[in-house]
Amino acid sequence: MDYSTYLKNYPSKDGRFGKFGGAYLPENLVPAMQEINDAYLTICHSSQFINELRRIRREFQGRPTPVYHCERLSQKIGKCQIYLKREDLNHTGAHKLNHCMGEGLLAKFMGKKRIIAETGAGQHGVALATAAAFFGLECTIYMGEVDIAKQAPNVARMKVLGTNVVPVTRGLKTLKEAVDAAFEDYLENYKDTIYCIGSAVGPHPFPMIVRDFQMVVGYEAREQFKDMMGFLPDVVTACVGGGSNSIGMFLPFVNDPVDIVGVEPLGRGEKVGDHAASMTYGSEGVMHGFDSIMLKNDNGEPAPVYSIASGLDYPSVGPEHAFLRELGRVKYDVATDREAVDAFFKLSRYEGIIPALESSHALAYAMRRAKEMGQGSILVNLSGRGDKDLDYVIEKYGFGEDFVDFD
Ligand SMILES: *Cc1c(COP(=O)(O)O)cnc(C)c1O
Repeated sequence: MDYSTYLKNYPSKDGRFGKFGGAYLPENLVPAMQEINDAYLTICHSSQFINELRRIRREFQGRPTPVYHCERLSQKIGKCQIYLKREDLNHTGAHKLNHCMGEGLLAKFMGKKRIIAETGAGQHGVALATAAAFFGLECTIYMGEVDIAKQAPNVARMKVLGTNVVPVTRGLKTLKEAVDAAFEDYLENYKDTIYCIGSAVGPHPFPMIVRDFQMVVGYEAREQFKDMMGFLPDVVTACVGGGSNSIGMFLPFVNDPVDIVGVEPLGRGEKVGDHAASMTYGSEGVMHGFDSIMLKNDNGEPAPVYSIASGLDYPSVGPEHAFLRELGRVKYDVATDREAVDAFFKLSRYEGIIPALESSHALAYAMRRAKEMGQGSILVNLSGRGDKDLDYVIEKYGFGEDFVDFD
């Protein structure tokens, strides 16, 4: 297949990536999605919008983030060279702000006064609260009461940033109930509010919008790597939760002779409930308003999932990933909790960079692959920094004595 026209052709007008994607919505949400879609398709061509977003990326987010050569880590493994795209250095410490700032600017251009979302571990909530403060928008974040108790630092951040954090007390009091509450709010208030999704998932147009805003990562990385080396990397890789940092990293390389690999969390193992490797163990289905590959239980409902990285424990994956795998353009592999923790300690110890546990999955794959390849180069999207994970990792694994050789 010729990928030079890929971005023009996908998604289709009705939000399809092949058979995946689409918008499975309650009747009363259709006009709201249509409004966002129409506004986005107009605004994304406006030079005023594009220039303003560029300025924000440069002056507020601190972009471009660098590409970094891991000399010591690579040497420990062999001759293959590992490079990182440093999204951990993006303002707020992860890639999520890339789409949240885009969504905030879109809200502003659409004349909306308020942005809302749900959050699980609080990472999306913090990124959106940051965008809201920057743009002077009201912000409401729905969060399960159980998650609020577990994620005190992120709740505090959102509140300091001026966001209204609403505890959701029904059902299991976690992410699923928070999603329902956010959508109920949106249904009532979509005249002056926009719903801001946290990954490249959900009904059309969200997977397209989030992808477009995240592609800055791959465009920058491709240019930076070429400037540094004079050629492109052999392998590009990123971790896959919902699939936003990975899709943004991958697509600018889609028409290049580069091996592209998404890495999912294998958690504690292959049993249902022990991992969140949707692409590897899932099957086609519709969930949260879109058609993709998902992990289902016997009743066809979303299966329980687990990963040491809370940003990766989602039972489905963005529809464009399902499509890119079907085309044979992107491959998907897995890394376990233990492999991710190993990568976490090795990058910290050998390079002075403490990675997020999510990003550590991509790095773990890169380290395994580097050993196999024995030469060449691998570019990893380091989606975020690991400060948020330190307490948990130390409690469970100490200071890495089992993982790093201290010679
Ligand atoms: C949320 C998160 C992820 C996973 O989300 P994607 O949409 O798959 O990118 C990965 N890394 C970090 C640091 C995150 O916060």
